[in-house]
Amino acid sequence: MNINATLINLYHVCKREMWLHAHAIRMEHTSDIVYEGKLIGETTYPQRAERYTEVEISVEPTVQDGIGLAAKIDFYDPHNGVVHEVKKSAAKEQAHIAQVQFYMYVLRRNGIKAEYGIIEYPKLRQTERVELDKDGENILEGWITNASRIIESEQCPPLLAKPKCKSCSYFDFCWSGEE
Ligand code: SF4
Repeated sequence: MNINATLINLYHVCKREMWLHAHAIRMEHTSDIVYEGKLIGETTYPQRAERYTEVEISVEPTVQDGIGLAAKIDFYDPHNGVVHEVKKSAAKEQAHIAQVQFYMYVLRRNGIKAEYGIIEYPKLRQTERVELDKDGENILEGWITNASRIIESEQCPPLLAKPKCKSCSYFDFCWSGEE
């Protein structure tokens, strides 16, 4: 079982979506929203290529928990130990913070400096600073354990309330046949 940043993000958005994603039931490729997000991530700060490096790291599962961790960080500043993330969203979300905290946690588990994170919201023209202290790490470990338990279950988690599903790529999958 491997937990990655996408799953930790989805854990905070919708546990059913996390489960569907983990079980390789994918709808994202049809989503213009996802494409737009990638586009903003690739084009908004082209000058940053020299300052930041891409990092792909993992933590092997232990015999005790059987949970491996994997992270692919697009913008890591190795000099200052800062994780940057760009979000196209017009709203700040807890899921974004959790994702960056996960990156920081996996870096630290590999002995790599992770002082803090910065989430940039080009549409909002705002940034959000992300911290991860010892308590935060304990909470994050709880998310990882819970996410793993949910994904390992054969039972797909229940639907969210319909208004929360409007922009989800699984909308038709989840709601066809529902009232
Ligand atoms: S449509 Fe709603 S219930 Fe289904 S995965 Fe998306 S957010 Fe979750």
